[in-house]
Amino acid sequence: MRSADEALALILARVVARPPERVPLAEALGRALAEELIADLDLPPFDNAAMDGYAVRAADTAGARASQPATLRVLEDVSAGRVAGQTVTPGTAVRIMTGAPLPAGADAVIRFEETETAPGEVRVRKEVASGYNVRPRGEDVRAGQRILSAGTDLGPAEMGVLASLGRAQVPVVQRPRVAIITTGDELVGVDEPLRPGQIRDSNSYTLLGQVQRCGGVVQSLRRAVDTRAALRQAFADTAEADVILTSGGVSVGDYDLVKEVVEELGEIVFWRVAIKPGKPLLFGQLDQRLVFGLPGNPVSSMVTFEVFVRPALRRMSGFRAWRRQTVTARLRQDHRSSPQRLEYVRAWTKFVEGEWQASLTGAQGSGRLSSMLGANSYLLIPPEVGQARAGETYPALLLDQPEIE
Ligand code: AMP
Ligand code: MG
Repeated sequence: MRSADEALALILARVVARPPERVPLAEALGRALAEELIADLDLPPFDNAAMDGYAVRAADTAGARASQPATLRVLEDVSAGRVAGQTVTPGTAVRIMTGAPLPAGADAVIRFEETETAPGEVRVRKEVASGYNVRPRGEDVRAGQRILSAGTDLGPAEMGVLASLGRAQVPVVQRPRVAIITTGDELVGVDEPLRPGQIRDSNSYTLLGQVQRCGGVVQSLRRAVDTRAALRQAFADTAEADVILTSGGVSVGDYDLVKEVVEELGEIVFWRVAIKPGKPLLFGQLDQRLVFGLPGNPVSSMVTFEVFVRPALRRMSGFRAWRRQTVTARLRQDHRSSPQRLEYVRAWTKFVEGEWQASLTGAQGSGRLSSMLGANSYLLIPPEVGQARAGETYPALLLDQPEIE
C-alpha cells in the first residue's frame, strides 16, 4: 500500500494551477497573487515629517539646549497634503505636521515637545543631526524593488502595499471550482426527518466548510444513492468543476461503487493509502477534473481532505505556501495505535511551559465526528509504534488555529 507521502506526490504531479484573473483590490483578500509585484514608485514618495513640530536646518541647532535655545523665525505652516511655498534658509523654520513634505532647505524636524513658541518664532531646546525625525523618500519601498512574489497569499498588509502603489485591480489566480457528491442509500438531508436506518448527510457540510476554508468554490453539492446509474449521473453533472470530491462508497462493501464508476468514466491513479483513518482513499482523473474518492466515515473524510485535497486545492489556487506547520509535541496520555499505518490522532496542541503538549480530544473511532470538535491538530503516530505513551514526543500537524479563551 502507498504511503501518505507517495500518494500526495502522485496527486501534486497532476495539479495544474488555475489561470489568472483581475479583481478589484477590495476583493483580493486571501487570494494568490498571480504575478510578482515590482514597485514602480518610491514609498514614501517624498521626504516628510515623522512628527508634528518644526522643520529646520540641523546646523541651526548647533549648541542648543534648554538653558540656551536656538531662536528661529517661523516662515509658514504646512500640514499633510500641502507643500510649503518657502525655502528654509539659515535662521528660519517651518511649522510642520506629520506626513507633510519636508520644505526645501530643511533637513530635520524638532518635535513640539522640544521647543517653546513665541509670536513669529520658535525656540529650539535641543541640538539635532541632519535627518532627525525625517522619513526619507523611498525608506519603505524603493522603485524597482520586487516587493511581492507570485503566489503570495494576499493578507491585509499586502493589500495595503498594493493600495500604496496604486494597484486598483490585482492579478490573482482563479479559485478552483469543486463539485461535492456524497453517496449512500442511508443519507438524508439536514432538514429531512430520520426514518429507521437513516442518518443525516454530515459530510456535505464538513467538506463544504473545508473547501471554503482553503479558498475553493463549492460549485455543486449533491447526494447520490448507491447505484451505478446515480453515480454516473452525478459525475455527468460536474463538467464545469476542476475537482470532484465524492464521499463514501470507496471501500470493499457490496454497494461501494465509486471506484468502479470512476474506472469506467476515467482513470484511477491510486486506491488505498497506508493511513488511519482514511485507508480507502481513491484518487483519479476524469478528463481535466481531479477526482478524490473520500471514505464515508466522517473523520476519515475530514482527515483525507486535510492531508490530500487541501494541498491540491492550495496549489491549484496558485499559493506558493501550502504546507501546514508541524511541531514536535509531547503526548499527555497513552494511546494504543494501529501498527502498519501512519495514524492521524485528533488532538488539542498548545505551547505550555516551553514546549508543545498534545491532549487527545476523545475516543478516536473514524465514525466519531465529535473527536474533531476542539481538535486543532493531528498528532502523527508512525506505523511502527504500537503503543504511544504519555511523555513521548510526536510530530503534530497544526490545523487552522482557533483563538484561545
Ligand atoms: P462508506 O464509506 O460508504 O462505506 O461509509 C462508511 C460510513 O460512513 C458508514 O457508516 C456511512 O453511513 C457513513 N457515511 C457515509 N457517508 C456519509 C455522510 N455523507 N455523512 C455522514 N456519514 C456518512
Ligand atoms: Mg456508503
